[in-house]
Amino acid sequence: RGLKKFFPIKTGLFGKVTGRVHAVDDVSFSISKGESVALVGESGCGKSTVGRSVLRLFDLTAGEVWLDGVRIDSLSASALRPLRKRIQVIFQDPFSSLNPRMKVRDIIAEPIRNFGLATDEADIEARVAKLLERVRLGKDAGGRWPHEFSGGQRQRISIARALAAEPDLIICDEAVSALDVSVKAQIVNLLQDLQQELGLALLFISHDLAIVEHMAHRVAVMYLGKIVELAERTELFSSPLHPYTKALLSAVPLPDPTIKTRRIVLQGDVPSPINRPSGCHFHTRCPAAIARCKTEMPTLQTLASGRSVSCHLIE
Ligand code: SF4
Ligand code: MG
Repeated sequence: RGLKKFFPIKTGLFGKVTGRVHAVDDVSFSISKGESVALVGESGCGKSTVGRSVLRLFDLTAGEVWLDGVRIDSLSASALRPLRKRIQVIFQDPFSSLNPRMKVRDIIAEPIRNFGLATDEADIEARVAKLLERVRLGKDAGGRWPHEFSGGQRQRISIARALAAEPDLIICDEAVSALDVSVKAQIVNLLQDLQQELGLALLFISHDLAIVEHMAHRVAVMYLGKIVELAERTELFSSPLHPYTKALLSAVPLPDPTIKTRRIVLQGDVPSPINRPSGCHFHTRCPAAIARCKTEMPTLQTLASGRSVSCHLIE
């Protein structure tokens, strides 16, 4: 609720604060059990910072994070510890996120030990075997080293490690972006199967709209630190309302090449999150901008259909 994360920019010998990066600016959303919510947008829009805010990897500038009725953003480290296991993360790079000096068995057992989910060695071993099976890796995988596996297999190990903590929510931050197309599809399907089997909530951070369309229930589109549109996946993909969403979706290749859509090419780069444009932050690139957009910032409005949009033209 109302998440804000601004990073100060310090310059000079005394580290005087001369500016702020508005990484995340007033972002609110919820995820239910068994639901996947995707955060999409160009690089630098703040989607990863939202994920890190939920994980509490840093203190928020403002806002609240609630987990199952408990406000977790203001908890002390010791009060947070028993809740930590409930939110796990899978990062993009399967090559750097696994300790090369640990065997796969020990990588997966680590959260089981750390969170005290089992202490008996035979019990831990049985859990690891079950997890390897869940992510469709062979039994003998446990005795091998991370470098012996391909990118897709390493991401399966990361998923097994995340599941070992018995989480309620898994944050996938570009978790399949580094993988080849066919491997990507396998990992996405695995995540979907696990989500259904285990009733997991997923926060799926991605710039890959084809994958988001395949697996998200709801989609939040971010631009320069703000959510500009939030809707059910089918609604968003069939009838995007925000001019930025329209431009993003027009760039996605269609499976049926006989359908012709007009590609909307946005002018220029994403402006800097240090000096965001006045009014609607998107006005410098928006093909539909009107005079009002330069001075007045639109607010995220929830429409009767339940979807939310932040644009003067939609009001
Ligand atoms: Fe474009 Fe104006 Fe809508 Fe912003 S408020 S998206 S600039 S039309
Ligand atoms: Mg990112």
